[in-house]
Amino acid sequence: KKYSKDEVLQKAKDLGVEFIHLQFTDIFGVMKSVAITIEQLEKALNGEITFDGSSIDGFVRIEESDMYLKPDPSTFVIFPWATQVKEARLICDVYDKDGKPFDGCPRNTLKRILKEAEEMGYTFNVGPECEFFLFHTDEKGNPSLVTHDNAGYFDLAPVDLGESARRDMVLTLKQMGFEIEASHHEVAPGQHEIDFKYDDALSAADNIMTFKMAVRIIAQQHGLHATFMPKPIYGISGSGMHTNMSLNDLQGNNVFYEENGKLQLSQEAYYFLGGILKHARAFAAITNPTINSYKRLVPGYEAPIYVAWSASNRSPLVRVPAKRGKSTRLELRNPDPSANPYLALAVVLKAGLDGIKNKIEPPKSVDSNIYNIGEEEKDKMGIESLPANLYEAVEELSQNDVIKAALGGHIYEKFAEAAKLEWNEYKARVTKWEIEKYLTKF
Ligand code: GLN
Ligand code: MG
Ligand code: MG
Ligand code: MG
Repeated sequence: KKYSKDEVLQKAKDLGVEFIHLQFTDIFGVMKSVAITIEQLEKALNGEITFDGSSIDGFVRIEESDMYLKPDPSTFVIFPWATQVKEARLICDVYDKDGKPFDGCPRNTLKRILKEAEEMGYTFNVGPECEFFLFHTDEKGNPSLVTHDNAGYFDLAPVDLGESARRDMVLTLKQMGFEIEASHHEVAPGQHEIDFKYDDALSAADNIMTFKMAVRIIAQQHGLHATFMPKPIYGISGSGMHTNMSLNDLQGNNVFYEENGKLQLSQEAYYFLGGILKHARAFAAITNPTINSYKRLVPGYEAPIYVAWSASNRSPLVRVPAKRGKSTRLELRNPDPSANPYLALAVVLKAGLDGIKNKIEPPKSVDSNIYNIGEEEKDKMGIESLPANLYEAVEELSQNDVIKAALGGHIYEKFAEAAKLEWNEYKARVTKWEIEKYLTKF
């Protein structure tokens, strides 16, 4: 159920809510929150709560630091884990001191691209598949890399700490209004996936942020640490966030489905796919935003490396799942859960819309395992790779005006600056691998 402003006020009073957490997400995908008391709720709902924007990474300079939080009443949710007093949250948009949507607010960015889609006659539906690891914590509560679980894909018994934590996560998410479609153990030890129902892209992005918060909190209650880091351990699978995408027309029909189309896909679906493949190398910086993201995109772990698509094979960047009719969708497989979901969905949608606008035909599908195709053959087929690292990704982004425009100048600059800084810090490190490789050799 999605509440209006008055309903939120009434509901909060009826339920005896004491604290309301006003949440928003910074450019780097980190959730920020300020708690207010029930007495301030009306003021908050009127968008009168200010905060110091200069204290948030990548937001604004000190001279222009007064920012406003404008809660979206439809995001009102009670925290099921708050048992001492009743607590709730509202997700907010950030406004600047002149009352305009702030350019540095990722939620505003996604809304702007969704509006572009709407002007073209589309709404965007997204179903994410979030993977994560559960690690044990030590006596001090610090996370380790120990899982104590030797299960694999879809394994069940014997139930370990991870299994019961996951069950608790599902129940908690349900209490928060999530419709959970599936939850299972993933391929690697200690790795899990919980899938919730697709939603319009803005709700999906809100849901991803809420999901990560809830999963972390419930893990902590079980003495575990949940991480959405893309590749915590070398040599086993990393964690992806496969993103299932479809467009509806304004009457609610899935426009990717065409009974008589090739593979029963519409021309729009093919153009959307064409746009995704054309811009993938540029939007990777956003969908795979960390140094660590690129340690996942290597052969052997079901993560994509090549810019290609298939209806039957899982190695390419985009897969077309078998379902048709209103479930017709494209599954984008490179995003990982360290991505800012608002920005990731904004750039991916923009890429697809650009495909439709400019009638970009996708290349032929690649239905054999790409890993088995030789380099020369791949070159001949024109199959490109995703960026090999964050540096290459940011370079690629810097040359793509469509994706840069989707982000807007403010976010693009702050993001690129931070990513380059991170790269420079990282590239100067001497790693354990180098010591093992060279110390005795030279
Ligand atoms: N963990 C894999 C990845 O990194 C995906 C595995 C799967 O869901 N089939 O994308
Ligand atoms: Mg899955
Ligand atoms: Mg999976
Ligand atoms: Mg999948």
